[in-house]
Amino acid sequence: MAKINNPEVLYRHFCKTASNIITHFDKDERDNILKDLKEIVTNNCICDQRIIKLNETIKDLVVDIDNSDTDHTMKEFKKQRNKMLAYKPDITNHQKLKQYFNEVEELIKAEDDVIHNQLNDDDIQITENDINIIDPFTKKRMIDPVKNKICGHVYDRESTIYILQIKKDTRCPVIGCINKQFILEENLVSDVITRKYLQKHPT
Ligand SMILES: [Zn+2]
Repeated sequence: MAKINNPEVLYRHFCKTASNIITHFDKDERDNILKDLKEIVTNNCICDQRIIKLNETIKDLVVDIDNSDTDHTMKEFKKQRNKMLAYKPDITNHQKLKQYFNEVEELIKAEDDVIHNQLNDDDIQITENDINIIDPFTKKRMIDPVKNKICGHVYDRESTIYILQIKKDTRCPVIGCINKQFILEENLVSDVITRKYLQKHPT
């Protein structure tokens, strides 16, 4: 199990949390909670950037320390400290943050489609013949299904991420799939229909 202090894992948890909110709350409540979550994710992103900058600053300072000249060292330290305090990270192109916003947008779209098509919890008509609930990598029942946007095939999020960590160049494992592109994490979006089916049919 990956550790939570890994930023990659944290963003994945943010996506999962957003996905649960979208599945379980009505539109108004959902939008309010997502607004709060957006603020948390954005602040977390700013903190991440600050920590990166702080580590760089510390590295520079350690190189610059001159034991024979304490005044100079103190001056340099204060200069860097002020620079650090004034630092405002630019997060407009932060990849993980963009990925989070994309994922939330896709999830809301998918959920609204489900509601629009009356495929809600009470009258979901899908049967196991129409839907695949087995992860093609582990051959086990999926827990957190994600859809590959390129070919539409569905895998379990955790096993796919695990496989991609071991082997970056992995193609869609579904037999007969015409998609020859390697799987990219940014192309994986939560699959609302499979998720709803799994919820409605627990083991
Ligand atoms: Zn495929």
